[in-house]
Amino acid sequence: MTDENFQIFLSYASDDKPTARFIYDALRENLLDVWLDEEKLLGGEEWEIEIPKAIKKSDVVLLLLSNHSITKEGYFQKEIRFALDIANEKPEGTIFIIPLRLEDCEVPQSLKKWHYIDYFDEKWFDRLIKAFKERSDGIGKILHSLKTEFDLSFICDVCNNPINIYKNEGQIYILREELFSARRKSEELSKQKVVPSSELEGTIAHWHKSHFACNKEVDSFYDIEIYRIRTLQKLLIWTSHLMWKRWLVNTDWPILIRDILGKEHEIL
Ligand SMILES: [Zn+2]
Repeated sequence: MTDENFQIFLSYASDDKPTARFIYDALRENLLDVWLDEEKLLGGEEWEIEIPKAIKKSDVVLLLLSNHSITKEGYFQKEIRFALDIANEKPEGTIFIIPLRLEDCEVPQSLKKWHYIDYFDEKWFDRLIKAFKERSDGIGKILHSLKTEFDLSFICDVCNNPINIYKNEGQIYILREELFSARRKSEELSKQKVVPSSELEGTIAHWHKSHFACNKEVDSFYDIEIYRIRTLQKLLIWTSHLMWKRWLVNTDWPILIRDILGKEHEIL
């Protein structure tokens, strides 16, 4: 394995830009490293130089095919030719060009030898990831480049198996009863002058992890699907969102965060 990122070049015609953007976001959500012109080109950089360079450096080129893109003259046609030139230097059978048909359209003759994927097939994303995976394994690169650093992991308290964060297999939640009793207790204690620390535990409601396979019915006060907080950044966003809620002081959110991040992130 190298520590270089697996690079995907996303090529599209300008008419297909909204779809290209959506596909880009879906790939980025899955922590893939994607080259998209409007994200990567810096002001003043010459795209006629930078784009071929980026294609050359990429591990796969994803070509978005539509009735516009295959018939219209434009830079997209040039990108196809660059990609084909580079593909010709690769060993036979290498996955390098992946045509993605956005609609039912004719695949240009020059691209016919490449296995295409249909965006209108509901399995398009899985198929795409499978193709990327085959390519990344072949060259010894890690597909989800940021995974080790930013992905969070959740282990089920019941079966001890990981809860798959990409498949919406679980949630974290706070129990209604626990929260209400914690608030009641903290109100009571606020009237006392001296509060023994042993009493403080009762003012906390704990966040629980739930694995849908093990634990379906939960009467919770607040829950967040695990797939929505699967990265460090998302966790931070949720935390800041919850900071506006008064009941947050009655939960062990800080403990949960430390638990999710693991020991290596503790402040020494
Ligand atoms: Zn479980």
